[in-house]
Amino acid sequence: MRPTKAFSAVSATSPLAAATIPRREPTERDVQIEILFCGICHSDLHASRDEWSEFMPTVYPIVPGHEIVGRVTRVGSAVTKFQPGDLAAVGCLVDSDGTCPECRSGHENFCSHLTLTFNSPDPHKTAPVTYGGYSESVVVDERFVLRVPANLNLAGAAPLLCAGITTYSPLRHWGVGPGKKVGVVGLGGLGHMGVKFAHALGAETVVFTTSESKREDARRLGADDVVVSHNANEMQKHAGSFDFILDCVSADHDINAYVNLLARDGNLTLVGAPAKPLAVSAFALLVGRRSLSGSNIGGLAETQEMLDFCGRHNITADVEVIAIQQVNQAYERLLRSDVKYRFCIDMASLKAG
Ligand code: NAP
Ligand code: ZN
Repeated sequence: MRPTKAFSAVSATSPLAAATIPRREPTERDVQIEILFCGICHSDLHASRDEWSEFMPTVYPIVPGHEIVGRVTRVGSAVTKFQPGDLAAVGCLVDSDGTCPECRSGHENFCSHLTLTFNSPDPHKTAPVTYGGYSESVVVDERFVLRVPANLNLAGAAPLLCAGITTYSPLRHWGVGPGKKVGVVGLGGLGHMGVKFAHALGAETVVFTTSESKREDARRLGADDVVVSHNANEMQKHAGSFDFILDCVSADHDINAYVNLLARDGNLTLVGAPAKPLAVSAFALLVGRRSLSGSNIGGLAETQEMLDFCGRHNITADVEVIAIQQVNQAYERLLRSDVKYRFCIDMASLKAG
């Protein structure tokens, strides 16, 4: 067991603060990684404050963080893919049973025995639950460690491990590409990656935002049009026209306004995970045989595919790099939709602090 510096919250109402957590010594299949950067996902905030208590109650202390990029420092004797000195990345998953139909088909993210990077029962019993990336190092089974293309900026690459795969996977699943009209709702961490991917895949891409101030950025990120969603005229202009809409909103909102923008057989996929159920109008779905679905991160092979796609297209997140001591202010800014477009922690600050 190795004592490791981290930032954790001890209750739903306490701020994140410096702490020491145990990390296991690498087993023969493990990779030990010194964390260089960790992105801040809105899920970190939901979980730290136990906002998802109904679905996955938080066990305290919690160490959030599942957008991890770092350098390999040690490997177990059976590890074949990595050696010390390599760049490596870890996303939302650190284990799964490896034998169920979901795992066998590359959908480890849907395995009923999956271990999330934080707040999952720890199969190694190093601690009651797994601890995430707001820490100086992490030890992960090599099956769950990914490769980062060498040309990518590391701070900008970290958010690909959650915001990237969470948006890439449904866009691919629903066949987004040339000739398709795609909407992205909510221009935050996930949303801005959704725009970059939809644009890179060749779709006509429209951003829906509540923030007038994000209009110009949305176009720079790849949007062909931008709609400020409280403007009824702008919304009406797109009625019944979308093949696919990706909803990346973190809070309660009117999804019927977006279902009504779908064409016949169009699909709206939720990746945003507001704590409270959303109200759906049956009529909005019935008219035009529209469908509503959800999507949850992605499997390992698809995550590597996404990272390689980003390497080829030179895609990274737009990040505001912060010191870990600024994490509580960053959470408050997330709640005000004030992030352009992902906070990313420079983990050197944890060593210094
Ligand atoms: P984020 O950076 O905070 O972005 C959320 C965006 O939603 C905001 O920037 C804002 O965009 C919009 N928004 C916020 N409050 C709103 C409201 N009351 N009404 C309408 N729009 C609002 O969050 P994120 O990290 O991208 O995460 C987004 C959601 O996805 C979270 O719930 C997170 O937990 C979830 N998530 C799901 C998965 C998955 O696998 N399904 C993975 C990661 C995250 P505008 O300013 O443009 O309006
Ligand atoms: Zn996330």
